[in-house]
Amino acid sequence: AARKAGLVSGGAVPIIVAGRTVGIIDLFSRARSELDARMSETLSTLALQIGQFFERVSQQQGIMRLTRVYAVLSGINAAIVRIHDRPLLFREACRIAVKEGEFGIAWIGELDPETQEVVPVAWAGVDDEIGADRLSIRADVAAGQGAVGEALRSGQPCVIDDLEGHGPVGLRRREALRRGYRSLIALPLLVEGRVVGVMVLYAREQGFFTADEQNLLTELANDVSFALEYIAKQDLLAYLAYHDVMTGLPNRAHLLDRLGSALQRVRHHPRERVALVLWDVSRFRNINETFGRQVGDNVLRELARRFRSAWPEEGEVARVSVDQFGALIDGDYEPADIAHLIEQAAAAVLGKPFAVGEHELRIALAAGIAVGHGAGEEADTVFRNAEAALRSAKRSGLGYLFYGPEMNAQIAETLLLENRLRRALECDEFVVYYQAKVCGRSGRLTGFEALLRWRDPDNGLVPPARFVPILEETGMIIPVGLEVVRKVLADMAGWRAAGLPALRVAVNVSPLQLQQKDFVAALQRVIGEQGGETLLDLEITESMIMSDLDSNIERLTELRGMGLELAIDDFGTGYSSLAYLAKLPVGALKIDRSFVATMCSAPESRTIVTTIISLAHSLGLKVVAEGVETEEQAELLRLLECDQLQGFLYSRPLPREEVPAFVRAMPGY
Ligand code: C2E
Ligand code: CA
Ligand code: CA
Repeated sequence: AARKAGLVSGGAVPIIVAGRTVGIIDLFSRARSELDARMSETLSTLALQIGQFFERVSQQQGIMRLTRVYAVLSGINAAIVRIHDRPLLFREACRIAVKEGEFGIAWIGELDPETQEVVPVAWAGVDDEIGADRLSIRADVAAGQGAVGEALRSGQPCVIDDLEGHGPVGLRRREALRRGYRSLIALPLLVEGRVVGVMVLYAREQGFFTADEQNLLTELANDVSFALEYIAKQDLLAYLAYHDVMTGLPNRAHLLDRLGSALQRVRHHPRERVALVLWDVSRFRNINETFGRQVGDNVLRELARRFRSAWPEEGEVARVSVDQFGALIDGDYEPADIAHLIEQAAAAVLGKPFAVGEHELRIALAAGIAVGHGAGEEADTVFRNAEAALRSAKRSGLGYLFYGPEMNAQIAETLLLENRLRRALECDEFVVYYQAKVCGRSGRLTGFEALLRWRDPDNGLVPPARFVPILEETGMIIPVGLEVVRKVLADMAGWRAAGLPALRVAVNVSPLQLQQKDFVAALQRVIGEQGGETLLDLEITESMIMSDLDSNIERLTELRGMGLELAIDDFGTGYSSLAYLAKLPVGALKIDRSFVATMCSAPESRTIVTTIISLAHSLGLKVVAEGVETEEQAELLRLLECDQLQGFLYSRPLPREEVPAFVRAMPGY
């Protein structure tokens, strides 16, 4: 055809997306040597740009898909909390899937174990007649060979990426095809390990259900299953009122009840007391977020079993909140005996690691104890005292603390520490250490993070975890935070004077600082004192930014206008909405250390890291991984195209005097 049209020369350039050829630019010319070297170079660039454009579009579509699935997940979770009626919950789940998730059709079927048939019990996006359409799940009949049969037999989700030309066509699938739906997922619903039903979702897009969507939807099916599990209990109300369904332990209400009667009883026995212990599982949220809720639930069940068998038979053990357990003991006990009991129980509970798949997880506990003698004491008060003791135990990092004189001593110590921190600011005992960040691709230095230390004349160098919480509680973080910026700017100027190249330094900002109305102005003043260009970055924790989004966006935009780069710190540990992330005027995400630490051993962490990186890139954000300790982690992060790496592998936090030598020894200096 080209020749007929008088075209005599031509060429073709492939369009490549993610290493795969997906298209071609094919060109013809009337002249003989039109496609010379320069021209073909231009064409290659064009093909490259088209490829990049495709890649971005497909990533953005991926995010929108995930956002839809997230919306369904949270909608259905809210419904589970609200609705304790099985048919109603099913109908609502389907309605949410169609409305929030824009799935074309959603239906739920229950399995009749007698006939091995699935009976549709709720649906949305499809006509009523589906209710009559029973579906066998037997592998030896045609109707059982579809996705539903497969999912129910295997207990695993089953996906069909393209409905067209796929096995026998039932009523639902015919209807779906007619309306233009192309893919489906069948999610089995399980109660106590037995398949009891299925939830089926149809999507308009071919291949909609990628691994990420499947993971989220599996979680959704687990949640619905979980709801079914406890709706199934006949004596639901009575049981729920006093028990925690997941672990089978009594709940907080029950414990308070028992505490009340124990206090009544010991009132008449002067030598006896009641001890209430509240245990808190440290950083339980991290377990949930790193390994998923199912793993978290298993860990809690195992903890419940261990607590129960570690505590004396005659005492009570209860689950009082998501990650807190309570234990009660009464009798002729001295505080020392109780401490002994607690130590024994903690050793028994924590003695063995917790198995998570093929990994082993270590857990830490904190405990707060309140002792009651019965005279005029209310259960509520004793409970609150134990909670207060637990809070100080957690804050101090001590294993357990008593409410009472022991605890007062602790409070006195905190007050003392406050005073010493006040003096530290006056006497200039705060110093800044610097930790390098390097480019993932080239290994070159890209900048530093400033990390605060307290050079305590009595105890030497104190890390921030020990005093930043107190600075925040007392508001001292505001002057100290500004002092950090002042010191960093002075150090940067010093390095420049010593002939080092200009380097960016990131400073951590406490939520409390950002909340100050005049934060931006104060920062501007400090920067103004120094003069020159600002190569300052700020790191702000994720939870903070999301808490007061609108006013934060305004403030962050202002900071950016001043030339400061902003990064979201500890990303992945909070609850950022994907939709909001795009609105935030930030330039980078820092993947939380906990994910980096486990990414080589835990596939769940790796999935999170991979998702964060591709998500960030598609939003045009840079990604920094913190806590990189091994070459293996660095290698994997480089493969995932993480932009910057930070961690002990490259450098410990260094005092400012050591920075110039460090910079000069880096590759590419
Ligand atoms: P962060 O912002 O997450 O800082 C990173 C922490 O990880 C630092 O702890 C750093 O020493 C540590 N780290 C770096 N590389 C590795 C590694 O490879 N492995 C391990 N295990 N750890 C690594 P650091 O200096 O103790 O600081 C703790 C936290 O204190 C910081 O966490 C930050 O939230 C806070 N902080 C530090 N300086 C300041 C400050 O000037 N102002 C405020 N508000 N908070 C600060
Ligand atoms: Ca940081
Ligand atoms: Ca961090």
